[in-house]
Amino acid sequence: MTLKIWLGNKLVDQAEAKISVFDHGLLYGDGVFEGIRVYNKKIFELDAHIKRLYESAKVIRLEIPMSREKIIDATKKTTEANGIIDGYIRLVVTRGIGTLGLNPFTCEEPIIFIIADNVQLYPEELYENGMKIISATTVRNHPLSIPPQVKSMNYLNNILAKIEALDSNVPEAIMYNHEGYVAEATGDNVFIVKDSVVYTPPVEAGALEGITRAVVMRIARQENIKVVEKNLTRFDLYVCDELFLTGTAAEVIGVVEIDGRVIGEGKPGQCTLLLRKKFFKYAHGK
Ligand code: PMP
Repeated sequence: MTLKIWLGNKLVDQAEAKISVFDHGLLYGDGVFEGIRVYNKKIFELDAHIKRLYESAKVIRLEIPMSREKIIDATKKTTEANGIIDGYIRLVVTRGIGTLGLNPFTCEEPIIFIIADNVQLYPEELYENGMKIISATTVRNHPLSIPPQVKSMNYLNNILAKIEALDSNVPEAIMYNHEGYVAEATGDNVFIVKDSVVYTPPVEAGALEGITRAVVMRIARQENIKVVEKNLTRFDLYVCDELFLTGTAAEVIGVVEIDGRVIGEGKPGQCTLLLRKKFFKYAHGK
């Protein structure tokens, strides 16, 4: 099936959705994006994603040439045009077409495109049995480099860590910050459970402020589970009772082994499973 893609200010056929080789998004990874889920035709946490998109753009001095209302409208139109019931939206704003130098101010106008498609999920088996992961040696971006809260089009730092994971035949890796504290996984946020308390690193440790992370923290508190944002070390991950990751695509997924250390009973823990179930219900509006 060919998709309808939002490009600039209208929907076009997939075959026509092309970007110039002079776009600084391609030349330099200069741009920002969001990955958003659709559950039951409803766009999940759209306002939070749009807020993060505009904040990311502000930090990199990119002025999005469309109002929030219009982007929301375009996102909905793209989802509807493709008949998406459960799916995934990729909303991208590139710096636009410029010259071959770094200077972003040579670029004419940022380009917006929106893809609404099916979602690439981890196999069900991974949710049931839990995932094995490793610690990456690649350090998360220093806060004085591109701030980790910016969801930019340049993911090379995380891609290097992802390669480390894949070289070890596991799907994910934990990234630590320059001080050795846990930052996040390559495309997900990190949580542990220890003595019935849920801990997650503060955003300042070098994480993207995940929208799934925020929802899961809220759901946990509604369930009267104590949630604490605190710096975590590799030691904390090795000796925790449960470990899980959160993200738009992964939702809530249990981790059962890290660097050869088995977590808890070696299967997704009770708290992880409860939060996964409650998250599913919330996402599906139940
Ligand atoms: N960290 C990184 C680096 C990410 O790319 C993502 C999104 N895939 C997340 C965390 C999770 O964020 P969210 O829950 O908003 O998808």
